[in-house]
Amino acid sequence: MKYEVLIGLEFHVQMKTKSKMFCSCANEADHTKPNTNICPICLGHPGTLPTVNKKAIKMSQLASLALGCKLNSYIKFDRKNYFYPDLPKGYQISQFDKPVAEHGELIINAVATDGLTGSLELENELKRIGITRLHIEEDSAKSIHTKDKEASLIDYNRGGAPLIEIVTDPDFSTPLEAKTFAQEIQLLMRHLDISDADMEKGHLRCDANISLRPKGETILYPKTEIKNINSFRSLEKALEFEIKRQKILWEDGKAPKVQETRGYDDHSGETKSQRTKEGFADYRYFPEPDIPPLTFSAKEFSALGTELPELPQAKRLRFCHEYTHTGEEAKIITGNIHLANYFEQIISELQAWISTSELDWDKEKNTLIKLATNWLINNLITRLDEKNISFDDNKISAENFAEFITLLHQKKLGSTNAVKVLDIMIDNGADPSNVLRDYGLEQVDNDDEIKKIIDTVITTFPDQIAEYQAGKETIIKFLLGQVMRESQGKADPEKAENLLIEKLKK
Ligand SMILES: [Zn+2]
Repeated sequence: MKYEVLIGLEFHVQMKTKSKMFCSCANEADHTKPNTNICPICLGHPGTLPTVNKKAIKMSQLASLALGCKLNSYIKFDRKNYFYPDLPKGYQISQFDKPVAEHGELIINAVATDGLTGSLELENELKRIGITRLHIEEDSAKSIHTKDKEASLIDYNRGGAPLIEIVTDPDFSTPLEAKTFAQEIQLLMRHLDISDADMEKGHLRCDANISLRPKGETILYPKTEIKNINSFRSLEKALEFEIKRQKILWEDGKAPKVQETRGYDDHSGETKSQRTKEGFADYRYFPEPDIPPLTFSAKEFSALGTELPELPQAKRLRFCHEYTHTGEEAKIITGNIHLANYFEQIISELQAWISTSELDWDKEKNTLIKLATNWLINNLITRLDEKNISFDDNKISAENFAEFITLLHQKKLGSTNAVKVLDIMIDNGADPSNVLRDYGLEQVDNDDEIKKIIDTVITTFPDQIAEYQAGKETIIKFLLGQVMRESQGKADPEKAENLLIEKLKK
């Protein structure tokens, strides 16, 4: 039998506000001594009063707009009651029936193997994923279990940190779609500067729920929720495993009859049962009496709309159109907003340079953009990666990188030496013209100088010259190599080849 797969995702995003959600403690749990960023409010002492972090509300509303959600003009907080050592109050302040926003959507394209949206040729393969709701809640503390399993330690620094929870409709049909969406959520949160959204560090957490049904049926069967997913790869792998497992259950006539929670084990690549519906908690939600509901005017919402920057998908699409980037190039460059801005600064520097020269931007732009894109992706980014330098610590200014591109374009710098120049620039951020001068790496395109080098090569390799003249034309590559070597990589290779052939024909 054929089955239809239904997957929904739930995200928790740690917002990077200065203070926690309901108190003035620093929202900094990663590099802080345990249990130092705490106060009576986030520790839940009796008689303390929470106050709402306005910045967190705004961030959650911006995220909602970016996800095409309808913002609620009346929102309130509720208590979600359950007992756990990492929850000092015995309840978590969350939102139940009046969340920040509802009914959104995000379009993804998971058909291409790289999960690309904005690739022009694949526009008709886009898929809409519905967003059920987006709400705010406070984070729990962090439990650390000792290796000997004798004790559990609790660090309350994270307790009360602001979280955004995003819940999607069960619209995904494949693990790849789910992974693509999760990566898009990460990109959006980073783009909006809401969160570092690092999955490994727990800034972005994701649970998946999944059920199967025979193709053609429309009812929803009990879903299985998968927890402990800590990377995009695990998300995809866990879902792949679960589809296989549930298919077998269906085929054996043992389709899941109750809702179940399973944990994903990264090492075995399997999910393991944690609890079933019978054991599900009843959270007894009720309105948080210490925080009055919040209301927003249409005017406030429209002002918020103007603060929304260009979103990653729109940016990718624009880069494809404006800079004739391939989907893959646009994805790499817009994958980091600082890199995208850097690229656009380089292009405007190049345009400024052209306007002061005798060249015409419309004629040169395609070549220059291509040159800049290639050197940026295939050399600068790759070299920074190899040297373990993050792009944000890149020392080369956009102005210097643009100048480097103009030197290549004017053939004042050959590609072999360009790699050396770039390496020096990466190390000290130097101006490329200075590097060329200081290291004597300027490309030689002066005919007379190249001819002199050719003469030396001809005298040094008489046998090879004879072979060439006897008809073995392929040996020209060897001779050209000698000219390049003799010039220490500085000769313009195209010019050298032409002059060499010309000379040998005489
Ligand atoms: Zn506190």
